Amino acid sequence: MTLLQPSQPHLPATPVLTLGHSVLRQVAQPIMSTATAAKDRPLQQLIDQMLDTMRAANGVGIAAPQLGRALRVLVVASRPNLRYPHAPQMEPVVMLNPRLIAASDDLEMGWEGCLSVPGVRGRVPRHRVVEVEYCDRDGQPQRQVWEGFVARIFQHEADHLEGKVFLDRVQAETDLLSEAAYQAIEVADLP
Ligand SMILES: [Zn+2]
Repeated sequence: MTLLQPSQPHLPATPVLTLGHSVLRQVAQPIMSTATAAKDRPLQQLIDQMLDTMRAANGVGIAAPQLGRALRVLVVASRPNLRYPHAPQMEPVVMLNPRLIAASDDLEMGWEGCLSVPGVRGRVPRHRVVEVEYCDRDGQPQRQVWEGFVARIFQHEADHLEGKVFLDRVQAETDLLSEAAYQAIEVADLP
């Protein structure tokens, strides 16, 4: 998921695939060898490439299919920014084979953007709290509980692994805006 800051350049380190590329609509394949992930050079290079690209684009998350690799690898990396000044600051969490194991019944609406869907914003519902299991980039099993904005980022990136984008979850015409219209509303100070 991306939250571009209007005053900053948008220069991804690696070209990000945009909607229309078939990889974005594929179900991504699991990493088969998580036990040896730490020594898997191509995998580690892919992870570094994802981190570099996400940072260069001021992103708060990225998924491997966005770089043309249909693999179950994603990054969640919330940080405060103009749009979400209260977003938690966190070290990027690299997740191999992430799995949603529990989610709250309550849903929250929120605006999302995506490097793979440039120029568009959508307001979509997400579970407020999620519990997830995954392996870290060294192949160690991990578990996390996230809520709010970080839970939203996870759900957005996990959708990419299923061949989905946030547009698929927009429920009303009024919940879809151009980036310019979204910025205008932001200036008008939406809650
Ligand atoms: Zn995205």
